[in-house]
Amino acid sequence: MERSRYTMFINRLAVVFLCAAAAGAQAQQKPKTLKPGWNFFSVDQDIQLGKEAAAEVEAKSALVRDPELNAYINRIASKLTSTPEAGKFPYSFKVVYDKSINAFALPGGPAFVHTGLIQAADNEAQIAGVMAHEISHVALRHGTSQVMKAQGIQIIAGLGASMLGGGMLGQLAQVGAGLGANSLLLKFSRGAESDADLLGTRIMAKAGYDPIEMARFFEKLQAGESGKGGSVAQFFSDHPSPGNRVKAVTEEVRLLQSSSGDKGDVAQLKRVQQTIGAMPAPAKANANVRGGAGPEAARPSAQMQRYQSRGLTFSYPANWQVFQSKQSSEVTVASREGIVDVNGNAEIAYGAIIGQVSRRGTFDQDTQAYLNQVMQQNRGVKPSGQQPARVQVSGMSALVNLFYNNSPYPNQREVVGVVTFDNPQALLFMVFIAPETEYSQVQRIFDQMIQSVQIAR
Ligand SMILES: [Zn+2]
Repeated sequence: MERSRYTMFINRLAVVFLCAAAAGAQAQQKPKTLKPGWNFFSVDQDIQLGKEAAAEVEAKSALVRDPELNAYINRIASKLTSTPEAGKFPYSFKVVYDKSINAFALPGGPAFVHTGLIQAADNEAQIAGVMAHEISHVALRHGTSQVMKAQGIQIIAGLGASMLGGGMLGQLAQVGAGLGANSLLLKFSRGAESDADLLGTRIMAKAGYDPIEMARFFEKLQAGESGKGGSVAQFFSDHPSPGNRVKAVTEEVRLLQSSSGDKGDVAQLKRVQQTIGAMPAPAKANANVRGGAGPEAARPSAQMQRYQSRGLTFSYPANWQVFQSKQSSEVTVASREGIVDVNGNAEIAYGAIIGQVSRRGTFDQDTQAYLNQVMQQNRGVKPSGQQPARVQVSGMSALVNLFYNNSPYPNQREVVGVVTFDNPQALLFMVFIAPETEYSQVQRIFDQMIQSVQIAR
């Protein structure tokens, strides 16, 4: 639970995933009808959202330019996407130099295959199987449907009529429903998984591949998962196994009455795997922190704007955004780049959190209780050893306490400034987070934010 204090409420969505019932492999007489569920997003919006998210992925991934490798993946892709089951989405497949075994598709069709996945495959049909499974998530519109299920009516309330004007990812982030390509858009329920397996089976069969290889590959990866220490962890975190995949696919093949298909070109896969094996690691390897540019990209502007809600007013940098959760009274202000995705958790690496806790005792007692809570919930947080500073803000006493922690940015320490305000109705707090290397220059802006606080009484 380290750092949980700084994670946004998006983590709570994990509960939704845990509750997703495991889809049992019940015997059926006819192939299941598979079609996208009800979805507030239009197909055009799926495509727009996928485009924006793909731009983010490409900006921070090492794409492989090797013509033979791209031709290989595109040959498989065109077989699969020309099946009627794939639907009319603008699919594109790109290869990312990354040793972890993963592949993912964004709403509307942009898809990415890691070199690690190609290396792990026994035959072409296994690669095609993962691709067919990803295509099925796109065709069944699971990405946006997942956002719908997790956020429901909040999305409808939060997204304005200007949605089609672009910047949908940003708008989704503002309602807390997705921070870039990595969050909700790629995390599926077990029910969605088994549907993607079924549709993937049909796509494989139509394209002439043996569908059983898809299920075999997933089961092989899963069996190796425990020993391998995380090289497939992201894939199974995004695609939780529905269980009994080989059995379910075998049953589907029987229902489809399709012939088994083949395993693809053996010699070409060998060549492609040798090419990958000989590739030098890219100069800028993919950062483990998905969704994060460096701290420079997250710096606050000197220009300020006003926040005003529920009697609370303060100024914050004009290039930062307010992220407000409906489930919590806390507000986060940060730039999109200041919130980084660490192992699936959105963590604030550069920004501020503002909120209130109820009063129990004196100002100093309540401040201490709050600081204890922060330290308990974030085991990495250590007091700086500096005496707290006492300041006056619009007639209120305020205390500034400094802490250190490990930054979500790689190899960095961060400064955490906790400011409490002696407001009699509720203890107001502002938590400022910045990498230590940034702190001296950002301090002035944080001071301005503190001094701008006003509470209506
Ligand atoms: Zn999946």
